[in-house]
Amino acid sequence: MTPNAVRVRFAPSPTGPLHMGGVRTALYNYLFAKKHGGTFILRIEDTDQNRFVPGAEEYIVEALKWCGIEPDESPENPGAYGPYRQSERKGLYAQYADLLVQKGWAYYAFDDEATIAAKRALAEENKTTFQYDASTRMEMRNSESLPKAESDALIAAGNWVIRFKIPAHREVVFTDAIRGEVKFNTAVLDDKVLMKGDGMPTYHLANIVDDHLMEITHVIRGEEWLPSAPLHVLLYEAFGWSAPTFAHLPLILKPTGNGKLSKRDGEKGGFPVFPLNWTDPSSGETWSSYQGAGYSPEAFLNMLLLLGWNPGTEKELYSLDEAVQDFSLERVVKSGARFNPEKAVWFNESHLRETDNAALVKQLLPLLESKGRSVSEEQALSMVLLLKERVQFLHQMTEATYLFEAPASYDEKTTKKKWKANTPEVMSALREVLASTSPFDAATIEHNFKAFLEEKELGFGAVLPGFRLLLTGEAGGPGMYEIAAFLGKEESLKRMDEGMKIAEAWV
Ligand code: GLU
Repeated sequence: MTPNAVRVRFAPSPTGPLHMGGVRTALYNYLFAKKHGGTFILRIEDTDQNRFVPGAEEYIVEALKWCGIEPDESPENPGAYGPYRQSERKGLYAQYADLLVQKGWAYYAFDDEATIAAKRALAEENKTTFQYDASTRMEMRNSESLPKAESDALIAAGNWVIRFKIPAHREVVFTDAIRGEVKFNTAVLDDKVLMKGDGMPTYHLANIVDDHLMEITHVIRGEEWLPSAPLHVLLYEAFGWSAPTFAHLPLILKPTGNGKLSKRDGEKGGFPVFPLNWTDPSSGETWSSYQGAGYSPEAFLNMLLLLGWNPGTEKELYSLDEAVQDFSLERVVKSGARFNPEKAVWFNESHLRETDNAALVKQLLPLLESKGRSVSEEQALSMVLLLKERVQFLHQMTEATYLFEAPASYDEKTTKKKWKANTPEVMSALREVLASTSPFDAATIEHNFKAFLEEKELGFGAVLPGFRLLLTGEAGGPGMYEIAAFLGKEESLKRMDEGMKIAEAWV
């Protein structure tokens, strides 16, 4: 491996399904890696066993697969830096916690939960907050405050945690690739627990040790981790390791109002926030998804790409390859990115129009089949040609039921407004023109239809709405010549005959 080759990781905790914000983080990591010829890693951060949700890891893997942004190294597909699941690296962390204790950067603490809770409650009463830090450390029970013999005995008894010793009154400064220089005073930081007595590291220790051992060069993650970054910078300093470059992505905001987009917003607003369907294993609650709503993964990713990054041009439609070409951390925005559900639909519609017909036919056939419609490839292609410009989602093509069966009802407004006293006569004449149209393809139908209008001195408005009603029952839709050709002569004439009988009640 070349030194300094880009290595980035997406490091979700399997505490539930990945929502669209998580997918965006994965996507930006993927794009950055591919842009720089680097490696995209999936690391499962499952040290907090209390928050473990069965099925969540599988969901994450499946979601990345559906999106087409699969990791180069992962639990499923390990590289040379494994294991890629933190629970399987458990034995590794204790020595690093020890190292920090030896270096004087960490200490053992023995306080029970009740003592800490009482301190918190007391502080709250005094309208302050309790922080375990340089100002309170010596009041607590730990290897800094207790006599050595007592502390050693408590360590041997095994009821302890290891806490990081945040230095008092220091300014921690680092450069974030998106935000520029970021400064924190250590006064806002507490002595975080790094290691629990059960031998499990906390997120902070495991995250830094693994990023170091996995030679991660850039940490690209959500803004909610920015407050942890100074602690992470100090941890690198304490170990004597060089820190990766940090890049904290902006929050994704709700469509309206203030605050971060939540899964409940999706429920309220009727839009998905998860890539794939998810059933909560404990509550049985189910969540809808982009996949379930009929979004293509390409459109979903394109929407996420522009939710926090802008190319600096007018270009909006991106393939994944184009995104790899153009992506840069410098153009990730600093402020929150507002999610717009209508724009998400627009991305799907626009990608659908850009997709070539043969690919759409391939996707449409199984959709039709699942609805019990067996259609030839040629017919599916005609459907694509008819409907490509008119639908937002591919599955809507299967809802054009008039392509498969005679109308069960006729649009009432049109029967009232457009079916005039002379329409039956006009339709009968048109029926004869169609009966003698051969070949019965869209071009010949169009030619004969127009000749008919000319001969009868009729405008389109006097003929087309009635013709459409008889064949489809609808007020609008794709081109009538194409629809008639799709139905074929026999079916078209049959629908005209049957429709005209029903139409006797319209005048
Ligand atoms: N496990 C953390 C999460 O669930 C990872 C944060 C990070 O990328 O450092 O998001």
